[in-house]
Amino acid sequence: MRIEPPRRAAPTRRGYDPRVLVSTNIAHGLLAFFWAQAARRVLQPRCPALAVSLVTLVLWVPPAVSLLQALQPAPWRLLRLEGWAAALASMGPVSWALVALAVGTGLVFVAQELVPLLMRDRAWQRAPRDAHPRLDAARAAVVPGFQALGVDRPPPVRCAHTRAPVAALVGLRAPEIVVSAGLLDALDDRQLEALLAHELAHAARGGNARLTLLWILRALQALNPAALIAFRQVVEAEEAACDALAARATGRPADLASVLLAVERLDGADRLAADASGQANARHSLLRRRVRLLLDGVAGADLGRGGHLAAAGLLALLLWGVA
Ligand SMILES: [Zn+2]
Repeated sequence: MRIEPPRRAAPTRRGYDPRVLVSTNIAHGLLAFFWAQAARRVLQPRCPALAVSLVTLVLWVPPAVSLLQALQPAPWRLLRLEGWAAALASMGPVSWALVALAVGTGLVFVAQELVPLLMRDRAWQRAPRDAHPRLDAARAAVVPGFQALGVDRPPPVRCAHTRAPVAALVGLRAPEIVVSAGLLDALDDRQLEALLAHELAHAARGGNARLTLLWILRALQALNPAALIAFRQVVEAEEAACDALAARATGRPADLASVLLAVERLDGADRLAADASGQANARHSLLRRRVRLLLDGVAGADLGRGGHLAAAGLLALLLWGVA
C-alpha cells in the first residue's frame, strides 16, 4: 500500500471576514496580555514605566500582526484558530457566551471610555488663563532636573482662573500645563514644584499625543477584553511612571506624595470615602498605590528603545504563529 505524504495546506489570504478579524484579534490580545503580565513579573514587577512599556504592546502588536497576516499569510502556525473557532461555534451556548462577551466588552468601552470623553465637563479648561509668578518660579526650579534627563522643550505653565482643584497637561500640538487658582492657593512652593514636575513628566513621556494614539488603538479593538484591561492598566501605570520620573527629577518624592493627598482632600475625599461605588474605591486604591510607590521608592528602569523593540519583536513572533 502506498502512503501519500501529508499535503501541506497552501496559505490562504484571510482577514477580510469581520468574524475572523475579531476572533483573531481577541485571541492575539489575550495571548499578548498574559505574555506582558508574565514578562512584567519576571523582569521588574514594581517598575511602573516598564509596566507601561509592556502593556502598551498589548494594544499595538496584535493589530499590527493581524495587518501583516492579512498581507502575507503565515506559512507555519503554532495554533490554527479556524479549528478552534469552528469547534466553539458548533457548541451553541458557548458560541453565544463568546458573542455576549464581545458585545459586553464593546458596551463597557462605550460606558467607560467614550461617554466620559464626550460628557467630560471641561468648564475649567475654558476658564481664562495667564502666567503667574509662583508658577513661573516653580517651573524654573524643576526644569533643570528634566533637562538633565534629556527633556529639551518643557511646555509653558499657566494659571486657570477657577476654584476647582485641577492641574493637567492640555493640548496636542502646543501643550501647556494648566494649574487652577484653587490648587495654586492650596499648595506651598515645594508642593507646587512637585506638582509641576509630575505634569512635566507627562510631557516628557509623550504627553497627550501618545495617549490619544493609544486610545485610538483601544477604540479599534473595542470588542477585545484584553484591550479593555490593558488600556486601563496603561492609564493607571502612566500616572505612577510620571510620579517616579518627577521624583527622580526633583529628588523629593515625599513632596509629590503630599500633593496627591492634598488634591484628593480638596477634591472631596470625605465624599469619596462615603461613596461605596466601585469607581470611588478604584480611585482611592490607585491613589494609595501611587503614594506607597513614591514613599517606598520605585525599583528598576524602563526597557529603553532597543529593549522595547526587542520585546515587540518577540511578541509579534509568538502571535505570528497563531492565525
Ligand atoms: Zn498625571
